[in-house]
Amino acid sequence: MTSNKALTPSPSPFGRGGQECRIEFSDRLAVIATMHRKELAIAPIVQTSLGVRVAVPQDFNSDLFGTFTRDIDRPANQIETAKLKAEKALELIDADLAIASEGSFFPHPILGISYNREIVFLLDKKHNFYVYGEYLSTNTNFRHQEISSYEQAYDFALKVGFPDHAIVLMLDANTSAKEAIYKGITSEDLLEESVHELLKQSPQIHIETDMRSLYNPTRMKNIAKATEDLVRKLQQLCPNCNFVNFDVAKRLKGLPCELCGLPTQVTRAHVYCCDRCQFQQEVLFPDEVQTADPMYCSYCNP
Ligand SMILES: [Zn+2]
Ligand SMILES: [Zn+2]
Repeated sequence: MTSNKALTPSPSPFGRGGQECRIEFSDRLAVIATMHRKELAIAPIVQTSLGVRVAVPQDFNSDLFGTFTRDIDRPANQIETAKLKAEKALELIDADLAIASEGSFFPHPILGISYNREIVFLLDKKHNFYVYGEYLSTNTNFRHQEISSYEQAYDFALKVGFPDHAIVLMLDANTSAKEAIYKGITSEDLLEESVHELLKQSPQIHIETDMRSLYNPTRMKNIAKATEDLVRKLQQLCPNCNFVNFDVAKRLKGLPCELCGLPTQVTRAHVYCCDRCQFQQEVLFPDEVQTADPMYCSYCNP
């Protein structure tokens, strides 16, 4: 997070700051960096909640920043990549506000099921900051399999929401040559044709879900949720300086046990912090309970 020293007021424990860091979005042009119709999920929310106007660059090639079908690798982590996309979009359209999004899919470390993490990133060049919203969900059709017949391909397709959700086919999971990957398959005819074409080259081929947003309505919903999280952060203003993203920076443990009153590992308070003026505020009992279940107490339930 960048800071602007000239705009930083001295932190006040009473939360009585000036209007120094209030950020206006109303009527500003926000460039959405996408080539996969992500504006369908993002634009309605930011237009309504922030009052921005939106534009999508005509010739924005987000594939340069990495693709899910692995023909092009990602250059950096999710947030860095979103930032690069936002900056690239501002080179294409003359504006000082850009929004980019990045998704990733991985197995949940404990549950083993697939997880989707969506980031919606806002870059404000006029006020020199960025903020991102985030949404984590098990609601994803992310999946892959090795198959050796059209019947297996069709079974797979039905399980992942085909034809509303598209299918990707390739010879094997390590395929990197662009021409050997069949993407965006949304019809039975094309699915059958592509499966037979690949099976001529190998007895076993690789099938997977197409995770590009315009081919994946489930992912599009998760992007909308991440956009809502972004808007929430932009609307939570610092009580001291009015800057955006006054959000939870720390969780303090020690909620007292309901039975014996000793501190437990359960969260007692959230500490909100301002990135710009460093003002902090503690909010007690964020989970709306003032005591912890004795099952979390190391004295009552050792
Ligand atoms: Zn502040
Ligand atoms: Zn106890």
